[in-house]
Order: sequence, then structure tokens, then C-alpha cells
Amino acid sequence: MISEDLSEFQSIAQQLIKTEKTNPVAQPIAVEDLNEQLDLSLNEEGMNDEALYATLQNLVMSTPRTASNKFFNQLFGGRRGKAVLGDLLAVMLNNSMYTYKVAGPMVGVEKMLLTKICQMIGYGERANGTIAPGGSMSNFMGLVMARDAYKDKNPLNYSQEKLVLYTSVSSHYSTPKNAQLIGLEKQQIRHIESDRYGRMDMAALEEQIESDRTAGLQPFFVNATAGTTVLGAFDPIDTAADVCEKHQLWLHVDGAYCGAVIFSKKYRHLVQGLNRSNSFSVNAHKMLGTPLSCSIIVTQDKKHLYNSFASDAKYLYQTDGDDYNLGKTSIQCGRRNDALKFWTLWKSIGTSGLEQLVDHQFHLASIARDYVQNHPDYTLYSYDNSISVCFNYKDIPAETICTALYEESVMMVGFGTFKTNTFVRLITINSDNEESDILRFFETLEGFVETHYEQLAQTEAVTNS
Ligand SMILES: *Cc1c(COP(=O)(O)O)cnc(C)c1O
Repeated sequence: MISEDLSEFQSIAQQLIKTEKTNPVAQPIAVEDLNEQLDLSLNEEGMNDEALYATLQNLVMSTPRTASNKFFNQLFGGRRGKAVLGDLLAVMLNNSMYTYKVAGPMVGVEKMLLTKICQMIGYGERANGTIAPGGSMSNFMGLVMARDAYKDKNPLNYSQEKLVLYTSVSSHYSTPKNAQLIGLEKQQIRHIESDRYGRMDMAALEEQIESDRTAGLQPFFVNATAGTTVLGAFDPIDTAADVCEKHQLWLHVDGAYCGAVIFSKKYRHLVQGLNRSNSFSVNAHKMLGTPLSCSIIVTQDKKHLYNSFASDAKYLYQTDGDDYNLGKTSIQCGRRNDALKFWTLWKSIGTSGLEQLVDHQFHLASIARDYVQNHPDYTLYSYDNSISVCFNYKDIPAETICTALYEESVMMVGFGTFKTNTFVRLITINSDNEESDILRFFETLEGFVETHYEQLAQTEAVTNS
């Protein structure tokens, strides 16, 4: 019975919330022990409710806790209650977002989000967007629109083999992957060097475009990143827009990680020039704390969305106009309602509340950076205006310390590499956290190193040069 299942949901969810406080890190299960420790088997006969509930409870309690104050491992974290509420209602309603007939007012919810975001960027009247299954797919849609726009503008000399795209060495792997998905070869992807702050080197970009032009190739697309995955750096978008306008290239801004700075008066300057981009992606499931996934892709001119993604289907589009049949511009057919969770959060705390979330994350990062800079046993590798705080502690290799902290269920934090350095990467994206949680991170790390120093220092520091 659904109502019993929902009560059970309440009970498991409440237990999880309680446990996250007392035991913020779940005991990890080694992959080779997984099927021994948990009953994951699927059998001919079903299970009774009581046994099933117990199995589920056990499974939930054994799963990594991404909402706790000891999770700094990835570019998401924490849990915004109102966003969860919106998402749970979306599950209950189970609409599919392709038509107004089937999704009704939820279409209005999604359109409101997209319209507001286009306005905040400063895109014009013709702008629109859609919600894709994650940032990688949002970037994919940006790339497809760019390719199709280029093809339409150059019908006579267009040649797929001659296309060239540009992205920095520090950009997310989805850009080279997407390039291959649209049929480009590896040698058609230019990885432009990063400067010491992790930003794309704009002089190198322009030089490369010019030399490719001279060689008779067809440069068509630049991907600039707002918040690179490792250092959290912002490529200079205004300069990229100058280059793209001069050479007639599509400018896509990958803001999956930190594009949400558009909500902050204080940090919006980091994406100066965003209004001049052709497309922009932002993940609400990263800085804005909605549950995975909620990824928005918008473009200056909605004709590109229709041009690349609209297909007619008489069995589907039977009422209302294209404008309200969102399936006309999405990559999926059946599509879950990823808009409601973000809308519910936004409705609840307002634009100013979203701004506070963003500002708070930068504040937490500055607390962490100050700590690292003021303690001589640490070396800092990241810079101001970034919510990725990258450092090393004493002479311990980042990989060793991160893995030991995980295996002993102390904290979840990952490591990254930039140029020749490998370091611990502390992400301050969980806006439920307070200064004390950040300071406790360092305290916990230092305490752990003190008691495990022999074991940790045994591994040779081969990763740093
Ligand atoms: C996370 C991230 C992506 C990918 O987003 P997913 O939602 O994980 O697919 C793309 N670009 C950047 C810069 C990211 O940080």
C-alpha cells in the first residue's frame, strides 16, 4: 500500500537525518564484500514488506552520506529541505515534461525558471532554454546548437572533418567527450593552456584560432568555464566573447559548477560578459543545493533549440503550441520534472536567499584559505574567488590522506591535479555548513595525521614535484 510505503519512507528518512548528525560518514563497504554484507539479490519470489523495509533501511544506512558536514568530496553537498519537498512531489505526480497536456502547470514552473535565468544573465527577448539530465548533457546541447548554427551559416563550404573546437586543459571532460559524440576526431579538439590561476590563456586561444584559419580549418566553438572542476577558476568570458565575435565562433559558457554566481551581486563580476555568450549551462544541483540532477541550458536565441532538437511527432504533440510543449526543445522524450525542486527552493527563499547560499559558500572558502595560509604546515594551490580550496598538509601525498580518511570513515574529501601538483581539494559547496564545520575539517585532518603519521608518510610523495 502506498500510504504504508510513504510512512516507511518518513521513518527511514528521519533515521537517516538523525544518523547523519551522530555518524556523518558511513562505514564504507569494500567492493569485494558488497554482496556479502548487503542483500542485493533479486529472486524469483518477492519479499514481504517487513523484510523489505529492513533491507532498504540497511541499504540506506550503508550508503555514503553526501548531505553531512563531513562530505567535501564532490561539487555538491548538503540538503535543502524545500528543494527535497519539491522533488518528492514531482515523484508523486510523475508527470512527463514533454507536453502541456500531460504536465500542465509544471510547464509554467519550468518556463518561469528559464525565463528568470535568461533575464538574470542579460540575454534578450528571444532567449530560452531547457533542462537536461546533467551538466555534461547541457554542454552537449550547447555544442550541438553551435555545430548546427555553423552549418546553416556556411552551407557551401561546411565540412565536418574540418571543424575545430576550443576548450581549456582545465575544462570538464564532457567537452572532449561531447565532441566525440557529435562525430569529431580527437585532433579536432584544441586544448588551450591555462594560466597559473587555471584560467584559459586568451592569447593562446586567439593564436590557435588564427593558425587553424590559416590552415583552412573551420573553427566554430569555444567552451569557456565558469568554475573549473579542479581549481574552481573562471575563464575571462568578456575576452573570450571579443575573440568569438571577431572570428565568428559560438561561445558556450560551462557554468555547471559555479555559474550560479549570477545570483550574487558580489560575485557576478566573475562572469562579466556572460550576456554576450551564445549559450550557458548551470547546475542547480551544485551551488544551489537542489537534489541531483537539475541542469539548465539556455541560449540567446531559441531558434537554435528548435533548429537542433525539434522533431515532429503526431502521436505526441496533439494540443497547445510549441511554446508550451517542452518536448520540442529537449533531448529526451519522457522527461522527469527537474524544475519543481528548484522552483520550490527559489519560491521559498527568494532570489536573495539564493544569493546568500552562493555568498556563504565563498565565505566558507575564504575561511578555509585563511586557515591554510596561516598555518605553516600547509601549502595552498588555489586562489581567491574559488570555492575549491586546494592544499597539501605536511609531506603527506594527497591521494594517501584522502583514501585513508575515507577507508577509516573519518571524512570524505578528494584530491585533484593542476599542472604538476596534486593536492587535497576541499569543496565548500554545502551551504548548511558553518565556519565551525570548516575549522573542524582541519582539526580532524590534523588529529588523524597525528595518530596515523607513520602509516601515511610511508607512501612516497611521488605526486608532487
Ligand atoms: C560537474 C561539471 C560538469 C558536469 O555536470 P554533470 O551534471 O555532473 O554532468 C560539467 N562542467 C563542469 C565545469 C562541472 O564542474
